[in-house]
Amino acid sequence: MEILKNYINGEWKDSRETACRDVVNPATQEVLARVPAGGKTPLDVDDAVSAAKKAFAGWAQVPVMQRVQPLYKLKQLLEEHLEDLADTITRECGKTRAESLGELQRAIENVEAACAAPLLMQSEFSENISRGVDEFMIRQPLGVCACISPFNFPGMIPFWFLPYAIACGNTFVLKPSEKVPLTMQKVYGLIGQIGLPEGVVSLVHGGKETVDALLDHPDVKAVSFVGSTHIAKYVYARGAANGKRVQAQGGAKNPVVVLPDADLEVSARVIADSVYGCAGQRCLAASTVISVGDQKGAIKEALYETARKRSTGYGLLSEVEMGPVITRESRSRVEELIEKGVSEGANVLLDGRNPRIDGYENGNFIRPTILENVPLSGEIIRTEIFGPVMTLLSMKTVDEALQFINGNRYGNMACIFTTSGANARKFRSEANAGNIGVNIGVAAPMAQFPFSGWNESFFGDLHGQGRHAIEFFTQTKIVIERWPKEWARKF
Ligand code: NAD
Repeated sequence: MEILKNYINGEWKDSRETACRDVVNPATQEVLARVPAGGKTPLDVDDAVSAAKKAFAGWAQVPVMQRVQPLYKLKQLLEEHLEDLADTITRECGKTRAESLGELQRAIENVEAACAAPLLMQSEFSENISRGVDEFMIRQPLGVCACISPFNFPGMIPFWFLPYAIACGNTFVLKPSEKVPLTMQKVYGLIGQIGLPEGVVSLVHGGKETVDALLDHPDVKAVSFVGSTHIAKYVYARGAANGKRVQAQGGAKNPVVVLPDADLEVSARVIADSVYGCAGQRCLAASTVISVGDQKGAIKEALYETARKRSTGYGLLSEVEMGPVITRESRSRVEELIEKGVSEGANVLLDGRNPRIDGYENGNFIRPTILENVPLSGEIIRTEIFGPVMTLLSMKTVDEALQFINGNRYGNMACIFTTSGANARKFRSEANAGNIGVNIGVAAPMAQFPFSGWNESFFGDLHGQGRHAIEFFTQTKIVIERWPKEWARKF
């Protein structure tokens, strides 16, 4: 069985750690590889960070126009290897092939956006801000930047950070999720071909010990984290206590409001795609669907019919619309949460527990599930389920729905489905969430915009992607100059 290597200083190297954990296909339980994880991975972190620190001195001096050239090559290589990378994502993460291809498309868009760094890094200049004095701002890179990524988008999330960090002149160390390390292993195989100097990008495998080593390393200047809220808070606090710049994106519990004037057919299809896409394992998955006013059960019926027909199975099969959840523990956790909902008074309108998927009896499958009559005080209303479970609520007015939404501890996304512009406008203004969808089920910002989580969905101030990424990966230097006329030499 292959034991994954780290990529440090332009070479694949064995980890100093010999303890490993299995990388498992969640649909079949096949062990795909073994990944180092344990107490000696901090030594690997040390190797990667010292190579990155050494490389920084030269890389920061390369003109930005030249720094983005390898990114153009990376875009081309990612496109050429799209099919193989999509297969890898599906095999280690479980999502369907179409979802894997979609995720890679979003990764490539971030590479394209970062190629605008020569323009985005331009800064401000005020001539004669005081008599004979000019003032201007320079953006300079920070140094070694680290990224810690989650399991649910192995091919995309590192790209919210990596291309921007290196385009801005930083060097970069990635620790992918130990549950899905194979996709980045392949991506780094491509990165090795794009002409970056040794040490500019590294890949270090591992779990908690590796994360802690990055958070404590004095030469790591900035940390980008994406994962659950509990760990995001921890990473933010520990990284900041060590004097680092930190951006930490956390979990979510996303509400969707359906008004009586919504287009039923479109809304049901789009909402079901949001809830059940990637088996509900998306930080922008809709979770709670709130029908407003008297709809006589129409949206409930439409959602039920759409959910019931969704085909669940191995993501590599073309007819499959939903894959498994990531681990056996995740499956048990989701099923326990459904049971908890029932014990709190919910009715299971559609029960996806313990399905039999022919040929894949050992997979971590749960079919689409719908809960209704869930009490607002229930745990299931507040907890991120991260599985294919929709909770139906009904409320009398838009204001009541907004009040419920604005009591949410998270704030990643809120969506509204309506044909009324005025109601949509009120909602987008008053909903307490960083990404708003109007007749959109997954309000995922494109690469040119920041991924704007609020509340406990984000710790920090500058988000991933777009201009925020450029600001996060640079520090500003203000220069004030006086050049009196009298000093001018006469030539
Ligand atoms: P996770 O928090 O378990 O793991 C994320 C990373 O943290 C991994 O690399 C892991 O190795 C590391 N980690 C885990 N436990 C740790 C510990 N005790 N100490 C230090 N590091 C630790 O998250 P996950 O299960 O991989 O991903 C799912 C979560 O990520 C969900 O909550 C989801 O909402 C969230 N997510 C958020 C966004 C967003 O943009 N806000 C995007 C994707 C996923």
